[in-house]
Amino acid sequence: MQIRRLKLSGFKSFVEPAELRIEPGLTGVVGPNGCGKSNLLEAIRWVMGESSAKSMRGGGMEDVIFAGTAQRPARDFAEVVLHAADSAGEELEVVRRIERGAGSAYRVNGRDVRAKDVALVFADAATGAHSPALVSQGRIAAVIAAKPAERRQMLEEAAGIAGLHVRRRDAEQKLRATEANLARLDDILGQLD
Ligand code: ATP
Repeated sequence: MQIRRLKLSGFKSFVEPAELRIEPGLTGVVGPNGCGKSNLLEAIRWVMGESSAKSMRGGGMEDVIFAGTAQRPARDFAEVVLHAADSAGEELEVVRRIERGAGSAYRVNGRDVRAKDVALVFADAATGAHSPALVSQGRIAAVIAAKPAERRQMLEEAAGIAGLHVRRRDAEQKLRATEANLARLDDILGQLD
């Protein structure tokens, strides 16, 4: 998957709508300390479905919304739009929006979807909020210190099979529910006999 454009509005320090084009080749983001470079990488992880506020360096998920400064009032919402192309060149637009008191909502190519669906889209493309390709500060040390099970998870994400585990869990849940329904049906049939 190739990320082509990122649009941010009200996300962390990006209070004004900002758009970044990511052209083929190497893109560098430079700027003084605290200008928002890490916030950009966090915006990519966030729109991919990151659910841990801690890994967004916040206490709660609403902390990603612009909190205001002495000169500017806080915002009520944050939105990140990611445009990408999949390996077949198909365009993909993913939007995540969070409103104070209302939580997050996602859209993929204009259709409302669940967080889980977004995570699957990226997992199938061998990327996602926890992809080892997104290396934030301190992450290299975390990879070196990772336990074998965590390393295996990273490899599975890189290989694009993480989504299969999610689907297997879903299928197992449905199977258990169906088995419970069948047992109940047996009970009812037994009572009718
Ligand atoms: P460094 O080079 O030091 O790593 P950086 O360019 O990566 O810095 P970031 O860590 O991305 O900078 O940005 C930090 C800035 O974002 C801080 O000024 C912080 O006040 C601001 N910031 C973070 N969250 C919010 C928020 N919710 N509202 C407003 N500003 C925020």
